Amino acid sequence: MCGIVGYVGEKKAQGFLVSGLKRLEYRGYDSAGVVTVSDDGEATLVRAKGKIAELEKKLSGLKRDDHVGVGHTRWATHGEPSELNAHPHRAGKIYVVHNGIIENYKELKDTLPQHDFKSETDSEVLAALIDSFYQDGKYELVDAVVQALKLVKGTYGIAVVSELSPDELVVARSGSPLVIGVGNNETLVASDASALVGHTKRAIYLNDGEVAVVRKDGIEVKTLNAEPVSAKVEEIETNLAAIQKGGYEHFLLKEIMEQPNSLAETLRGRVNVKEGTVHLGGPGLSEAELRKIRHLIIVGCGTAYHAGMLASYYIEQFTSEITVEVVIASEYRYRQAYIPDGTVALIVSQSGETADTLACLREIKKQGVRTVGIVNAIGSTIAREVDGGTYVHVEPEISVASTKAFTSQVIAMVMFGLTIAQAKGVRNTVLRPYVEEIAGLPEEIGRVLDAVNGDVKEIAKRYAKYEHAIYLGRDTAYPTAMEGALKLKEISYVDANAYAFGELKHGPLALVDDRFFEVALVPEGALYEKSVSNVQEVLARGGHMVVITNVSEFDLPVECVVKITTSVRLFAPLLMNLVMQLLAYYVTVEKGYNVDQPRNLAKSVTVE
Ligand code: GLU
Repeated sequence: MCGIVGYVGEKKAQGFLVSGLKRLEYRGYDSAGVVTVSDDGEATLVRAKGKIAELEKKLSGLKRDDHVGVGHTRWATHGEPSELNAHPHRAGKIYVVHNGIIENYKELKDTLPQHDFKSETDSEVLAALIDSFYQDGKYELVDAVVQALKLVKGTYGIAVVSELSPDELVVARSGSPLVIGVGNNETLVASDASALVGHTKRAIYLNDGEVAVVRKDGIEVKTLNAEPVSAKVEEIETNLAAIQKGGYEHFLLKEIMEQPNSLAETLRGRVNVKEGTVHLGGPGLSEAELRKIRHLIIVGCGTAYHAGMLASYYIEQFTSEITVEVVIASEYRYRQAYIPDGTVALIVSQSGETADTLACLREIKKQGVRTVGIVNAIGSTIAREVDGGTYVHVEPEISVASTKAFTSQVIAMVMFGLTIAQAKGVRNTVLRPYVEEIAGLPEEIGRVLDAVNGDVKEIAKRYAKYEHAIYLGRDTAYPTAMEGALKLKEISYVDANAYAFGELKHGPLALVDDRFFEVALVPEGALYEKSVSNVQEVLARGGHMVVITNVSEFDLPVECVVKITTSVRLFAPLLMNLVMQLLAYYVTVEKGYNVDQPRNLAKSVTVE
């Protein structure tokens, strides 16, 4: 959450700061600001409420040639979105941008009576604290930062610039990401490598508890205890096309349509159709270790949690020797859960920075449990801290609502389940049908997207007027329905909730009336007749139903039916999810809301 950028080099800092913030806008967009400092120490601070475009308008009259500066796009935690609360925050001669939460800001604030606080943020307290050491004159900027950070409880990624040393930035992190881009006679800083793409391919990912002094021709990294760190320079793999809209009106539609390719990338080199097997190298577990697994914990938030739920239904089908427990990270981190022997934990996060999921990872590791990451962002904190892992390789997901990552997370976890089942000696005849369907899924996804896109667009026009929706499904279609409801609510603000079909009569059926529409997933399979009966129950009460099914004979008189013609059976819910993704997208377009940046939300949830 929130975007940080920083520049020190020979070019005009404002240029990179603004373009970098635009790239990071999906991580927070309630206000933004930049400060640059001239060679003779004159600072230009510009902040604006709202989108980066507002900041740009203000900056147009304040163009500067300065070669150093920092910028921020905010996702407010303390204090409303406003110009005064926007970062950078000034204290004396320094300016600070901060991502995260300073938990003990109230106590710290009481120790800083000399500072005239202008904002309600926790971040300004940090700026004042750094300044209290800096003003003393005893400390260089970096040492003042270190002294302050030693007193701080909470999470931070920060970048600091001073009017007194306009040839350097000081950056530090604990719990919030920070990447340093190594350029030619310039060094760039960002909270997400996507801001650096096109400027440099070489990056240093800072670790928690590290602080760095960044100059145009050098980077010095050390720990808060002053131990020098020899930082590793890594390659940024993302290319420019992956972070642009590529002709689509919105990132969300681009990312939905990318799924044939993104899933193919997830599968690359991991599926052997001839043998009917899968091979995942990343988790790093030997056959003997895989055989010992009795219990899987899957940890995620939001869409990643739903992906885990769906994957758990499949994994249980492979072998009765494993139980799967899917948990919401923000809950699990504070529970006193007993973890039995033979447990492996799957840590699922698109960004690899999700604060609650990261906290669970650390708790689980403390208990000596083996952890495996299911992560998209390469080099992210979770990817680096897990014992092993499988990257989903779907390239950056920019739209706040997750689509392509969900599909690939499900399949990556299913492949991990298959890997365990193979090691446990489950017969190939049991597993092969799954492997064969997985191998064919990318193509099938492409076909289904083409086939349904036009129809779903029309259907969306009819249902965009509703403020309430109920999503329904059984078995694998139930977690899929949960994901469908989340997609609709997060971008179209429709109050959408999912229920297991069998739960209807235990309460939710009372809701059915003209305020609601219902989306029901009715896949072919052993529970088809049961789902059809549930559809009848809703129909009998005047429900406004959209049924998504792969059964060509489905003929109940519901308002709308989306029939998917496909040979895929086991993974049909994933294809139905495409319809729900498109439905959420087109309903939102119809309502005229901001598809890629829904209100109150942001991508990469780095705060608790
Ligand atoms: N806690 C800080 C604030 O509310 C930083 C928020 C962010 O990460 O954008 O200003």
